[in-house]
Amino acid sequence: MNKSYKKVLKAIEKYDTIVILRHEVPDFDASGSQFGLVTWIKDNYPKKKVFAVGKPHKLFSPNLYPESEINVDVSNCKYLCIVLDVANTPRIDGKEYLDNADFIIKIDHHPLTDEFGNISIVDDTASAAAEIIGEMLLSFNKKLSQTTAFYLYSAIVGDSGCFQYSSTSERTMLVASKLLKTKFDFRLMFEKMFIKSIDDLNVIKFIYDRYQITENGVAYYIISNDDLVKLNIVREKVKAFVNLFSGYNEIKVWVQFTEDITAEDEYRWRVSIRSRGVKINDIAAKYHGGGHDNASGAKCVDKDEMLRLVNELDEFLK
Ligand code: AMP
Repeated sequence: MNKSYKKVLKAIEKYDTIVILRHEVPDFDASGSQFGLVTWIKDNYPKKKVFAVGKPHKLFSPNLYPESEINVDVSNCKYLCIVLDVANTPRIDGKEYLDNADFIIKIDHHPLTDEFGNISIVDDTASAAAEIIGEMLLSFNKKLSQTTAFYLYSAIVGDSGCFQYSSTSERTMLVASKLLKTKFDFRLMFEKMFIKSIDDLNVIKFIYDRYQITENGVAYYIISNDDLVKLNIVREKVKAFVNLFSGYNEIKVWVQFTEDITAEDEYRWRVSIRSRGVKINDIAAKYHGGGHDNASGAKCVDKDEMLRLVNELDEFLK
């Protein structure tokens, strides 16, 4: 067994209370990894107290994943904290739980940003954090239930773009195939992840009416909070349309700007950037973000900053 995985198992076995964190505004990988690991620990060590911490996702829970919790009582106990799918500490949802943790484990597949944790497993060649977690849990040769497999598989599907991004590897498929061996209902999983309603056509129509393309192939559109209200959708749902411009030859980079009036900082505009064959995470990092070569996030204060970001991406494509 891989030495780091062995150390993780030892830590899980040592602590009676375990807090599992992931990044804020979770995606399939963050939530699927979190609940995959929570379920696996509960299945194998039913006496342990295991908490999935973070703001619940408006669309994922309770239909796709259970609800995560914001406040859990870990006072007066030594606990283990496992942080999944996040490279930089400010983005950890529930980072305050790190302060009193007795031991911290980080498992991530983003390029290394902040070094933290008594054990740190960071592998940016993995398609998803869940690929690493799945490989690790499978190597333990303990019970891996259909529910755990369902959560981890959905996380891999989410972050590999249904096994189509270049991060998809032989290892991705190997882990996925072993998860499938549990015979969980993957048809139901796909339906829960991707089913749309007829109202979503209004959002698609809105985006196709509004998008702009720069000279060198950056497609972008801006969705304000007023637009969200008019379209009658929550901000989280807009993310489902992030790849609407992925399959067009002339478009190399596509960007979604969405206003978040609940933002606790001055960065009201949340940005999702995706690309084909162009590395965009360095530019995202200049705009308070980061992520992967072809899938990054960022934050902007106002429309001027958004347009600066678009121009910088456009210049980069020249
Ligand atoms: P998103 O567009 O929010 O789905 O994010 C795409 C990728 O970029 C994910 O892997 C995120 O974890 C990462 N990401 C998003 N926002 C940020 C940020 N502000 N800082 C660092 N990484 C981010």
